[in-house]
Amino acid sequence: MKPTDLEFSHEALDPPPGRPPIHVKWLGTAGFSIEHDGYTLLIDPYVTRASLFDCIRSPLRSDALAIRRHVPVADAIIAGHTHFDHVLDVPGIAQATGATVYGSRSCTTLCQTSGVPSAQVVDVEGHRGVEPFRAEVGPFELRFIPSVHSAFLFGRIPSAGNISDCDQIPLRTTGYRCGAVFGVDIRVAGRRIYHLGSADLLDGHPDRDVDLLLMCVAGWTTTERFCPRVMGSLRPGAILLSHWDDFFRPLDEPARALPAMRMGRLVDSLTAVDPSVQIGTLPIMGSLRL
Ligand SMILES: [Zn+2]
Repeated sequence: MKPTDLEFSHEALDPPPGRPPIHVKWLGTAGFSIEHDGYTLLIDPYVTRASLFDCIRSPLRSDALAIRRHVPVADAIIAGHTHFDHVLDVPGIAQATGATVYGSRSCTTLCQTSGVPSAQVVDVEGHRGVEPFRAEVGPFELRFIPSVHSAFLFGRIPSAGNISDCDQIPLRTTGYRCGAVFGVDIRVAGRRIYHLGSADLLDGHPDRDVDLLLMCVAGWTTTERFCPRVMGSLRPGAILLSHWDDFFRPLDEPARALPAMRMGRLVDSLTAVDPSVQIGTLPIMGSLRL
């Protein structure tokens, strides 16, 4: 099964008549913009999409032109973890737009070392409490749920550890260490959206019944019982599949799946738990409304 065989229609999730829609746009990889009522969130926006050659050859630099072309002006930027394909562009977008960044200590260090003012960066990891860290951005209510990264590299998490303030910017790909991992629970206009940026999670989530799960595909085959666990923990009504695309290809070329994503098997495993769940993809820069 090809990802394009699964494309959602624009109106797939039935926005109710009479209220401004929530627009969810896929930016490629685990990146999304979510807009409602004049406010915009970005999650894991990665539009530089350095080639494999550039990733191996030299430290990575964010592509300011790609940011200007593809990233909407946002009120907040959320980083679920700090691998390069999630945060390379975060400091540049923050500096270009003034948006507030929410992320781990590793993300905070990266942003501050890159010159983003401290007042513009929120460390969601430093929060100590029973309840998850919460924030409000316009009509959006955010909860940062501790999560885990899939251990897809021979049973290990690639580039584990934190970006530290001793690291030299620009970093090589391996310098973008994972940092603490968060799922992001977003509540807006009576809907719940959950961003799962890596294909693993901690069991026993505080709340289930997510309307739309933005779900990472890469790594799902090496995470034990991923499908029943994600379905049981979040009980999603709909799933938008992400992070299945080859992110070494430029954004203006059609998305092509990474090897071994096994999309057909993934869909079968998810629908085996709940046959009513809607599952789909979007083209890069495609959007849906809910
Ligand atoms: Zn990652």
